[in-house]
Amino acid sequence: MPGFEYFGDLERKEVQDVLDTGVLMRYGFDGMRNGHWKAKSLEKELQEQLHVKHVQLVSNGTAAVTSALAIAGVGAGDEVIMPCFTFVASFEAIMMLGAIPILVDIDDTLTLDPEAVKAAITNKTKAVMPVHMCGSMANLDALKAICDHNNLLLIEDACQAIGGTYKGKYLGTYGDVGCFSFDFVKTITCGEGGAVITNNSIYAKNADHFSDHGHDHMGNDRGAESHPFLGYNFRISELNAAVGLAQARRLKEFLGLQKKYYTIIRQALSKIPEVTFRTVPEGGEESYAFLNFYLPNLEITTKVASAFKTSGVDVCFHYYNNNWHYIREWQHLKDLKTLYPIPREVKEGLHYLKTKQFKKSDHYIGRNISCLIKLSWTEAQVKERARLMVKAINENL
Ligand SMILES: *Cc1c(COP(=O)(O)O)cnc(C)c1O
Repeated sequence: MPGFEYFGDLERKEVQDVLDTGVLMRYGFDGMRNGHWKAKSLEKELQEQLHVKHVQLVSNGTAAVTSALAIAGVGAGDEVIMPCFTFVASFEAIMMLGAIPILVDIDDTLTLDPEAVKAAITNKTKAVMPVHMCGSMANLDALKAICDHNNLLLIEDACQAIGGTYKGKYLGTYGDVGCFSFDFVKTITCGEGGAVITNNSIYAKNADHFSDHGHDHMGNDRGAESHPFLGYNFRISELNAAVGLAQARRLKEFLGLQKKYYTIIRQALSKIPEVTFRTVPEGGEESYAFLNFYLPNLEITTKVASAFKTSGVDVCFHYYNNNWHYIREWQHLKDLKTLYPIPREVKEGLHYLKTKQFKKSDHYIGRNISCLIKLSWTEAQVKERARLMVKAINENL
């Protein structure tokens, strides 16, 4: 991550095509658009690269998660099991549908703990939503077995892990539906954008209609289209899709760079016996968007994180006290601070958060440092960074 560091002529050309025709919308205006269909082309590009049958672009990753749940029938009063280490979008998307997010512990993969998922299943549970945080995945075989046994949907939030694989499949293509974000800091960016991906043709059709007010997209008179069901406007614009199209064509190049820099830093840190690395489930390969490692305890981790800052090692995160990614700082969720009244069943369904402890997650997040791998570094800079990291860790053990 992130692709924005490589914004250049390829992106400019795709955007210019759209500006030249003036058709900023992804649907219709066939005559004016001079053959340019950026959203459609990006969908096709992703289908081919990720070996998935259907891709529906949407306006952002949060809309992708909302749509993924909606198209599979998750709604009012349904419980969705999700990890307590993720991005706030996960519970926002669930609650937008009137469903109830059930937050559970993570394990040393930094993603959903299958045992915690099992323990959280009730007769209201409808879906399990692992979030492949920081470039690596949950134990998808274990989660799939739980889902199959309990007749639950498996929805993958792969927003931070595009290009990672599990047992030969790209992340996002293993479960019933997968989600990506192409916001400004993700591995490939549209500026703002997202995608819902699936091999299920009914869900795909639902996604196509749902993200455009329920339009059925039949015929070539948009005004005459019918609405088989209600939808929203989660459309992406052609301008955003144009940027993403250029970026998606460079995904392999971005992944190669991430792997190269990740490996240099990892090899350097491996020489320190006290450093251990995040577990990657057997059969999985990370996207290398981040390098995640553990230190012996919370105190040392806190010290090392601040030593990184003072020695100029940026983009390394100790998520324990982070507002965006970890349950400890989500007071607005625990207090249910909303601008408007929310459904009673969601309110009651979230009562457990006032007292629930996440000891196992605290244990891992407290000791974890997550370092973003940037594409714009030079190899010499990466080596110097690795040296500074080793020094900062050794000085604080
Ligand atoms: C970025 C992100 C999202 C939401 O994406 P936006 O495009 O910013 O709305 C959802 N889930 C995860 C894990 C993310 O990192």
